[in-house]
This record gives sequence, C-alpha cells and structure tokens, in this order.
Amino acid sequence: MTDPKGRPAEVLAHAAAAPGFMPADEGQALFDHATEVGTNGPDGPWLEVGSYCGKSACYLGAAAEAVGRQLFALDHHRGSEENQDGWEHHDPDLVDPATGLMDTLPAFRRTIHGAGLEGTVVALVGDSPSVATVWRTPLALLFIDGGHGSEPAHQDYEGWVPHLAIGGFLFIHDVFEDPADGGRPPFEIFCRAMGSLAFTAVDAVGSLRVLRRIDLGI
Ligand code: SAH
Ligand code: MG
Repeated sequence: MTDPKGRPAEVLAHAAAAPGFMPADEGQALFDHATEVGTNGPDGPWLEVGSYCGKSACYLGAAAEAVGRQLFALDHHRGSEENQDGWEHHDPDLVDPATGLMDTLPAFRRTIHGAGLEGTVVALVGDSPSVATVWRTPLALLFIDGGHGSEPAHQDYEGWVPHLAIGGFLFIHDVFEDPADGGRPPFEIFCRAMGSLAFTAVDAVGSLRVLRRIDLGI
C-alpha cells in the first residue's frame, strides 16, 4: 500500500523538476488553492490555458488527482512569441526538425506520463480562442498562462472567464504591477477582473494572482 499523503508529494517533486516557467513557491500556491477550491468550491472540471512542457499542469494535476477532478490542459504547443527562435525563452531542443516549428507536445506528454497523471490531465491541442468559443461546461478553476501579448491575453480573459462558475477560482500568472518587472497584458487582465467587481482577491504569490468569482446577485 502506498501512503495516500505520499502521492501528492511525489507529484509535486516531479513538477518541481519539470521544464517550464513556474517557480516552486508559486507552484505550491497553485496546488494549495486548487486543493481548496476542489474541496469546498463548485463542481466542474478545471482548465489551464498555456501548458508548455506540463510543469504547471503537474502542480494543478497533483491537486486534481487528490480531490478527484479533471484538468484540461490547453495549448497549441507551437510556443508563444517569446519562445520562438531569436527570442529570450527559446529552447532549440523543442523545435520539430520535420516542420521547423516549435512543438512542446512530446515534452508535455513525457512530463504528464512521468508524473503518473495521464488519468487526470487531459491535453487539449488547439488555439485558445477557438476552443473557448465552443466550450460549454462550467469550470471550477481557470488558470490563465497562455500568450502574454495584449491580444492573446485579453482574448483568453474574454473567452474563458465567462465559463468560470460562481465560487470558482481564477489564477493569472505573470502579473507584474511594476512594468520594469515584466509585460503589461497579464496585469491588465488582472485589473479587468478586479474592476469587474465579479472577483475577490484571495492570494498573491510572486507573479501569481488567485481570485474567486463571487455572486453579484444580479
Ligand atoms: N504554464 C507553463 C508555461 C506556459 S508558456 C509552465 O508551467 O511552464 C505559454 C504557453 O502558451 C506556450 O506553451 C504557448 O504555446 C501557449 N499559447 C500561446 N498562445 C496560445 C494560443 N492562442 N492558444 C493555445 N496556446 C497558446
Ligand atoms: Mg507564466
């Protein structure tokens, strides 16, 4: 018999070792808050926009597995602007030699397989706004970490936030109040959420913001 407490710890260790862009303290906060909303929040699956090589999907997936939810991990796996050749976050090992294009899907699958999360994390391979348009199931958790340009970030906000159930948690990554620390669009969508009065701030760890959707009663 394996220790039931041992399983999340094992997955979290795997997440920490996975390639990607999620510091350990923020990943731990993802896990903690996801576990909380999975235990006390609304019904429904979880969805992340922007999976890359599966690091954040392991943090969220560890929680999803522990509380019996499913995580949909959405990415076209062609990389964001900053992942392309010549940009700051480019990794040449992630280019598919057959097409010359970025392809993070094989690395994502290795990460999720290695974490033992193939029964919990469902890959959705496609363009975020296109999938959002046809999505119908209310979400209990939404994590936005896709394209960080102005158009993609605002499209993710507009396309996915309406699918978040009342009481559900919205996580936004790479939110920097000070422009010297990073790009504006994630901060702008955080401000949109707070300005809409439909959210209350739950936590802030590094560049991760955690918000809860509240019932406006209107
Ligand atoms: N959460 C990841 C990092 C995500 S990086 C981690 O923990 O490491 C951002 C990702 O968003 C990239 O993999 C990129 O391919 C994806 N992305 C950017 N624009 C997208 C779009 N329009 N549709 C789907 N995925 C997109
Ligand atoms: Mg990020």
